[in-house]
Amino acid sequence: MAEIPKVKIAVLGGSTTIGAGFPRAYEGVKLIAENLVFDTPFGPTAPFYHAEVYGKEFLYVDFHGINKEVRNTEPDSSGERVFYVLWKAGVKKIIGTALCGSTNRLLDPGDAVIPDDFVDFTTKRPQMLMVNLQDKGMDVPRYSYRLHQPLCPTISDHLVEGATVAGFPRVFKRGIVGVAEGPRLESPAEIRLRWQNLGIDIVTMNLVPEVFFARELGACYAALELVSNYGEGLIDPRWEGNTAFRDFQKQWSRPSAEALLHAIKEMDPDDESCGCSELRWESILL
Ligand SMILES: [Zn+2]
Repeated sequence: MAEIPKVKIAVLGGSTTIGAGFPRAYEGVKLIAENLVFDTPFGPTAPFYHAEVYGKEFLYVDFHGINKEVRNTEPDSSGERVFYVLWKAGVKKIIGTALCGSTNRLLDPGDAVIPDDFVDFTTKRPQMLMVNLQDKGMDVPRYSYRLHQPLCPTISDHLVEGATVAGFPRVFKRGIVGVAEGPRLESPAEIRLRWQNLGIDIVTMNLVPEVFFARELGACYAALELVSNYGEGLIDPRWEGNTAFRDFQKQWSRPSAEALLHAIKEMDPDDESCGCSELRWESILL
């Protein structure tokens, strides 16, 4: 098993970056190590990359650390394994990325949304990283935290700029994500009633637990969400699963990767002026 390096930045890839050759296929990226499988109390991780760009080192894992062996549901989920690694690495800035469906009728496939809030509809995801580590016999503190600023405004600004520079025709600097358990997609009534009536703009199966595990670590987190399809029952039902995602990836996976790299370029991993790191505290519960 590989030793976890000390790194301050992490990128959690999604369907947006699968097949994009990220991070090796991009100018200026130096690959330090690849195929790094780390041992964690929850089991081994999916393979990580350790790379450097613009003089900054980062860790990258494909598809949120989910693969055939590692599920995103409890117990011993991908989220717990990945965030154990990020905690041990001392990561301070985290970028996630995912494809999403639209629920806001103004959105179209190819739109980039940098969300500023979320609603969690998942049912099988881990909720507390440190408590789960205590359950594994580790002596670690528990944290409580606030989520009135769930996504880091500074990294979000960098992603808005990155998506614009990378050529996305429309980039939205706010939006509410509805996170579904999946793996199934929603029915038209779920889109219309459950999602739309709550003011949710996009639906995805990711972002949870990343958005609150990052807070538990005292790290900043922001996400690049790309609309790949209309939510069921909205506007145009004529899209076909795999074809839609494949076509979308062909056109947009490289610009997605470029947007992520731009955010790393602009980012100061030691800057805490956004305040995210102060939104957690040690819990009075032991
Ligand atoms: Zn922040």
